[in-house]
Amino acid sequence: MDKSLENNPHRMHTGRFAPSPSGRMHLGNVYAALMSWLYARAQGGRWLVRIEDLDAMRCPRHFADEIIDDLHWLGLDSDGEILYQSERADIYLDAFNMLKSKGLVYDCFCSRADLRASSAPHSSDGTPIYPGTCRLLTPEQKSELLKTRRPSQRVHLPDEFSEFFDLTYGVQRCNLLRDCGDFVVRRADGVFAYQLAVTVDDALSGVTEVVRGCDLMPSAHLQIFLYKQLGYDVPDFRHLPLLTAPDGRRLSKRDDDANISALRATHTPNQVLGIIMHAAGRCPEGAELSLDDCLQLVVGDSKNK
Ligand code: GLU
Repeated sequence: MDKSLENNPHRMHTGRFAPSPSGRMHLGNVYAALMSWLYARAQGGRWLVRIEDLDAMRCPRHFADEIIDDLHWLGLDSDGEILYQSERADIYLDAFNMLKSKGLVYDCFCSRADLRASSAPHSSDGTPIYPGTCRLLTPEQKSELLKTRRPSQRVHLPDEFSEFFDLTYGVQRCNLLRDCGDFVVRRADGVFAYQLAVTVDDALSGVTEVVRGCDLMPSAHLQIFLYKQLGYDVPDFRHLPLLTAPDGRRLSKRDDDANISALRATHTPNQVLGIIMHAAGRCPEGAELSLDDCLQLVVGDSKNK
């Protein structure tokens, strides 16, 4: 039984799909949506959609509308109100203030260029690990910098191990400070950052199982840290292998053959579901699958494990 339900048997199994609407979905996004829906249904739970449009400049509203329409075309409709992160700054501010009151947040004046130029090691997802430069600033240095720069805000991580059990990949372990590094919770322009918003939203929506691509595995450690600091129940995590194109490349929004709008023009929803399940190695090529067929494949799989 999933750990969060053991802690609180009245919590209903809740899955979610949380796309960033910076373009049309590709098959990898649809795979995450489908698998999170299937795991929620397999457990008799509910499934929510949340639009992660924190960065309003990169996320015009029509992309969100298209994603919701594409999901509906596939038969994947949110069981609750669709949340838009761009409308929830007040809620993130409360959580941010709680972290601040615990002394976990500090001003950071480093630009991206500063970080790229530093010789700091990189984390497993290729981003530089923040070397802690601004954590060590004296009050005098800080007030000098404040005259010319607006700081972002980072959370100070402890030099401690974080461990969780991923439902696909098993035990995941890292040293928070050395392997992940202090991370931004609020950008210099005042916009709250992904790690904070995703944690607050999943917690307040009662999400019990986070299903998403394994490129976000390192983020789970940071999010679990925030769950604990903010006093929320930690959900289960199930990261998915990334789908690749037939030649082994990772799918991206630039691949037309993997773009949902191109596929919609020439395929039925059941054909698209068949393409996704085939790319995930769960059915032969050319299969046409209903959502129920997909559910049987996933439930069957979990029974065999
Ligand atoms: N918004 C993120 C993305 O589209 C996913 C966040 C998540 O599932 O935690 O990549």
